[in-house]
Amino acid sequence: MSWNRKIMICYWLTAILLFVSEVVSWLSPYEFNGTGLWETQRGLWIYEDLSILVLLGATELWLRREKKIYLKRAVLLCGLLLSYELYFLLGPVVHGSEIILMMPLLISLVYFERNLLRTFAILNILCYMLVTIIPAALHMTVFDIADFLLVMTLLVIGTLLGQGVITRSLEMRRAVESLAKSEQKLIVEKAISDKLLKMDALTGLYNHKTFHEYMENLIHHSEANGVSIHLAILDIDNFKTINDSFGHWVGDIVLKEVAGSMMELISPNDFAARYGGEEFALIFADTTSEQAENCCEAIRSAVERISIPHLEGRAVTISSGLCHYQPGDGKEMLFRHADDALYQAKRSGKNRVLVYQNQDKLLVPQI
Ligand code: GH3
Ligand code: MG
Ligand code: MG
Repeated sequence: MSWNRKIMICYWLTAILLFVSEVVSWLSPYEFNGTGLWETQRGLWIYEDLSILVLLGATELWLRREKKIYLKRAVLLCGLLLSYELYFLLGPVVHGSEIILMMPLLISLVYFERNLLRTFAILNILCYMLVTIIPAALHMTVFDIADFLLVMTLLVIGTLLGQGVITRSLEMRRAVESLAKSEQKLIVEKAISDKLLKMDALTGLYNHKTFHEYMENLIHHSEANGVSIHLAILDIDNFKTINDSFGHWVGDIVLKEVAGSMMELISPNDFAARYGGEEFALIFADTTSEQAENCCEAIRSAVERISIPHLEGRAVTISSGLCHYQPGDGKEMLFRHADDALYQAKRSGKNRVLVYQNQDKLLVPQI
């Protein structure tokens, strides 16, 4: 519910309370201090009640208009006029009823806008001057300078206090905003540093540490749910000679290009890491052995076709060892088997993908 609506409800409740108290006092057999004042007042009530109803009704109509502009001002103006209605109604019979004139100031505080507070404080002071000075000038009432000055002082002090409250709240809001901003900055910085901790700076793949964490989690998951896991270890062939012949900086370009080919060919479910040096690890989760092998083969073939001008026509090749995880084997065993397959791939001529079958069977060359 908007604040405009909440304030309007308060106005309506005030009006209802006023009408109820009027009816009660009307029915009451007791006469207030025997002055006959109640009697005179009762005659005026009906007009004042009607004007309150017209005021609230008009404000409601304004709030329901199609073009919703000046809503706060309409609600505050309604509050200002209502407080003067109440002041006129209660003034002759209730001592200190001037306090009701503070109501517009208090309501304008709800919006926490200095301009609104100032505007309605000035309007309030002008209204008070009008309703005291004009009737006195027309000899309808007696001008009580002490009362006048006291109420004016109250209104000015109320306005200054309201300004103080708004200024303080704006300060607090700024402090909270800057706290939220620095918290956001910290979250972003943490996310970046977390990412940096997980990634390999040269290739943009996951690093050695992240590989082991992921592998452990996945094996745990696989043991519980039977998800199939394949691990491939990929190693660039004769990388040392690339470094020696063309320089380490060309070697670095080769590493990046190989990583790029891997990233292009793996699916979002697969996990690629730079294991160290010129070795990479690929984890396939929830794929068949055929799919994993095809992916390794696609990477091998793509790397073979990489063309790097600095290599002066020399091809880059990789060898891979692929192993399917057997429940109960554990991370070390899986890694050892994939490494064994890689070793065999190197020994049998490099630039190939070999699949680890089991300890007794021979590894089958794929190309
Ligand atoms: P093989 O075919 O048997 O794998 O031989 P290889 O020469 O590829 O393997 P070896 O282990 O002999 O050499 C790996 C080289 O990789 C040695 C090291 O200087 C180089 N290396 C490791 N990390 C980096 C790196 O970040 N950048 C570059 N340019 N070279 C690296
Ligand atoms: Mg190598
Ligand atoms: Mg190596």
